Amino acid sequence: MENMTDNRERNNTTPILILVVPCYNEEEVIGKTAQVMADKLKRLSKEGVVSDKSRVLFVDDGSRDGTKRILHSLCTDSPVFSVITLAGNSGHQNAILAGMMFAKDKADIVVTIDADLQQDIEALDEFIAKYKAGCEVVYGVRNDRSTDGPVKKLTALTYYKLMQFLGSKVIKNHADYRLISAKALNALSGYTEVNLFLRGLIPTMGFPSDVVYFDVKKREAGTSKYTFSKMLNLAIDGITSFSTTPLHLIGVMGFLATILGGILGIVEIVGWALGKNFPGYTTLLIVILALAGLELLSLGVIGEYIAKIYMETKRRPHYIIDTVIWQDPETVRNSHLGNRK
Ligand code: UDP
Ligand code: MG
Repeated sequence: MENMTDNRERNNTTPILILVVPCYNEEEVIGKTAQVMADKLKRLSKEGVVSDKSRVLFVDDGSRDGTKRILHSLCTDSPVFSVITLAGNSGHQNAILAGMMFAKDKADIVVTIDADLQQDIEALDEFIAKYKAGCEVVYGVRNDRSTDGPVKKLTALTYYKLMQFLGSKVIKNHADYRLISAKALNALSGYTEVNLFLRGLIPTMGFPSDVVYFDVKKREAGTSKYTFSKMLNLAIDGITSFSTTPLHLIGVMGFLATILGGILGIVEIVGWALGKNFPGYTTLLIVILALAGLELLSLGVIGEYIAKIYMETKRRPHYIIDTVIWQDPETVRNSHLGNRK
């Protein structure tokens, strides 16, 4: 019943929305992105969908190009923009975490969205409608992967299948374009793990949620900031931070290898008793290679987990904030969503 009253109240509210936008070397696209996002917020607040205190919060993830300069000048142009600059490049997941944690006490809802305008910003209306209908989390799910190359398509598909097999609650084709309420953000702040995989973590919180489908566009400008190694790391993090199944599989493999060895041994002994001669070295080579391979693989998997434990014990912060330009909606109220001059 409590939820019911919550929902009814929400339908008549105009929530404060903060768009959290991670930026890493995005000088080619960020100016255009800022304009599109500010226009969208302006429209949404005019239509009474969100509060006129809504804003865009850029997180500069240690960019080395002109991004920082452009973001700072955007802030002087319009109070709708704010910027957090991280001291170094902490990676996409940590950048959006920095933005979300900063925004959680200043907004009713936060939407994380990439800086390259690939994710359709028009989906925001639907996100907010779902929030007003009672969802604490709304996941943006891409309609198709036609803008991806064949390699990315295949790796993504294999990855989701693997995650499913390992029992993770990852939502297929959802990549951090999501709405999350202040309530859910507060819950999220209680997760202190260093190995952060938001796409897997947020669904496990169990809040009422829904999905919104959107079309993925080509990057407006610039190139992908996700290098192959960044993608691979994210994939491995996703698996090892959720599932210990690979560790169990090692045990299973070891067990099977031992049984196989035993059977082969018996076959040879029986054969020997019956007076048969085996060309010993071939079988020996195969067995040695197979076992050595399995052992190294197993060590590698265990190593991955030990590395994770090692990092967790350090309890290092996810990100270091260097500077903040926060334009408080209360103080810049009169000039909000327009130019200052
Ligand atoms: N990004 C970031 N830190 C990084 C890498 C990427 O903040 O170390 C940001 C990037 O600026 C963009 C978003 O994360 O806003 C997604 O990156 P990108 O569009 O390059 O990835 P793709 O869409 O190609 O997977
Ligand atoms: Mg992109």
